[in-house]
Amino acid sequence: MDYYSSQITKLIEELSKLPGIGNKSAQRLAFHIINMPEEQVERLSSAITSAKKNVRYCRECFTLTDKELCPICESQKRDHSVIMVVENTRDLAAYEKTGKYDGVYHVLHGAISPMLGIGPSDIRLKELMARLQREEVDEVIIATNSSLEGETTAMYISKLIKPTGIKVTRIASGVPVGGDLEYIDEVTLLRALEGRTEL
Ligand code: ZN
Repeated sequence: MDYYSSQITKLIEELSKLPGIGNKSAQRLAFHIINMPEEQVERLSSAITSAKKNVRYCRECFTLTDKELCPICESQKRDHSVIMVVENTRDLAAYEKTGKYDGVYHVLHGAISPMLGIGPSDIRLKELMARLQREEVDEVIIATNSSLEGETTAMYISKLIKPTGIKVTRIASGVPVGGDLEYIDEVTLLRALEGRTEL
């Protein structure tokens, strides 16, 4: 039965498709939006559409950016000979927040998971290998999560890179098992980075 006007039902339906938003939260958000001033609703919807239209992957590190090259890849102040491999853009943001890492990144957009049917070709691994051939790289720091998937991915990458002679390191496992990097505080992240060991 349709309790609300079909317009509200449609809004609730769309909102409940977002990750972490159940039906109850979707209803709450929908009513909140309806009660917002019209200009604010317009700002929100145009922020969504223009982000979707203009955001793309950096051609170098595959993080999300609105230019061809992200500000990190473009910066001459960063050390381009050190690449930190992370699972997603949020993990990159977590390391950037520490302000202590001055290398560059490579964003995989996922991790290898045989259980979920995600293989090496489903993440940006080919692109990483191409990058290592193209550029002078001294060290690859693998900063995937310490979950089963993250560890599997780290092992796979290190085996792939080893023959090239490039140094491969893994962040220390001070990071809680299964913990998403983005939820870990800066001190723990820095400790994990400083305590990295060669694979
Ligand atoms: Zn980039």
